[in-house]
Amino acid sequence: MRTPIIAGNWKMHKTTLEAKALAAGIVEKVKEAKEAQIVLCPPFTALGAVAEAIKGSNVELGAQNCHYEDKGAFTGEIAISFLSDAGCKYVIIGHSERRQYFNEDDALINKKMKKVLSSGLIPIFCIGETLLERQKKQTFDVLKRQVLHGLQEISLSDPLKLVVAYEPVWAIGTGVTATKEQAQEAHRYIRDLLAGLWGSQTAEQVRIQYGGSVKPDNIAELMAQDDIDGALVGGASLEIDSFARIIKF
Ligand code: PEP
Repeated sequence: MRTPIIAGNWKMHKTTLEAKALAAGIVEKVKEAKEAQIVLCPPFTALGAVAEAIKGSNVELGAQNCHYEDKGAFTGEIAISFLSDAGCKYVIIGHSERRQYFNEDDALINKKMKKVLSSGLIPIFCIGETLLERQKKQTFDVLKRQVLHGLQEISLSDPLKLVVAYEPVWAIGTGVTATKEQAQEAHRYIRDLLAGLWGSQTAEQVRIQYGGSVKPDNIAELMAQDDIDGALVGGASLEIDSFARIIKF
């Protein structure tokens, strides 16, 4: 039995004050929620404020990116140890916006994944096909490449130390959600790939989130699918009510 995990990716939104108010509002609304583990991923500058706002609650902290080196001359980058220091337990790796706008490829993502896993933080490893790739019927090939290269030379000792997020690029921020059948099919395929890497016992325990225009009115049918274990939520995580309703699917 996998415990669902729902994470809010705030992207490049929210000042410190705004983040504090949003986090405090979410904490208040979901304090009785038992349906899922809850994670907030604010911008780096708001990590401290959100850490303070969620202290003692059932809400956990995550970041949106990190560097693969411990420290050094990498202007503008952020080390994993800084994220732990700020109270993060999770970090999003390989989000499609990083792949698309910041040229992150599978090799770079693999370096980050190795480093995050060895640090004790839990990566939320994002994969997903573009619209063109889906139209050309390349979805499975793309997922296979992203999984096999992104997780290359990684041996997962604890299945709870990895979260995978299947996010079809065409569904992110577009208002178009994958149908429950499309999502389930991709999730099952990803779980089979994980089984090929680490055996089915481990694969059956890894949580696989769906991401892409998740809203209060589509979360329930997605969560009802056998291999969907939560959601990575962008736009709808920026408002207290909509995110709380998603959490209480
Ligand atoms: C995301 O940023 O990971 C995401 C899924 O965004 P949205 O929910 O806005 O589509």
